[in-house]
Amino acid sequence: MASAECIFCKIVRGELESTKVYEDEDFFAFEDINPQARVHTLVIPKAHITGIEETDDPALLGKLLLAGKKVAQLKGVDRSGYRLVINSGKDAGQTVFHLHLHVIGGELLNPRMA
Ligand code: 5GP
Ligand code: ZN
Repeated sequence: MASAECIFCKIVRGELESTKVYEDEDFFAFEDINPQARVHTLVIPKAHITGIEETDDPALLGKLLLAGKKVAQLKGVDRSGYRLVINSGKDAGQTVFHLHLHVIGGELLNPRMA
């Protein structure tokens, strides 16, 4: 899908509404529309990258994780604990093909991850 029609690109451009949590030069974080826990925030690169399989850029992926940590701090779950998740492809149930990191926490999470 071209970035023009991508919903997460539209969110970055402000064409679709979102509740912003964090933004820097390269990343944008906003609340998931269908939260799976009390805290459920998505962190995305501003650049359109379809998923983790599309990039081998260590700086981008490293900074994505650091932005996830920053969001956990901003959401106040860095001490209580949180989960960082990237779904990739069909078996993982990826539904939006713009790379995103889920930051999930704010309650005791299921110890099973699958
Ligand atoms: P995936 O299953 O691809 O890893 O996760 C996609 C996530 O994007 C889901 O948790 C879903 O709730 C969220 N999502 C899908 N469309 C929108 C939207 O338009 N706005 C926001 N804020 N979240 C969305
Ligand atoms: Zn996109």
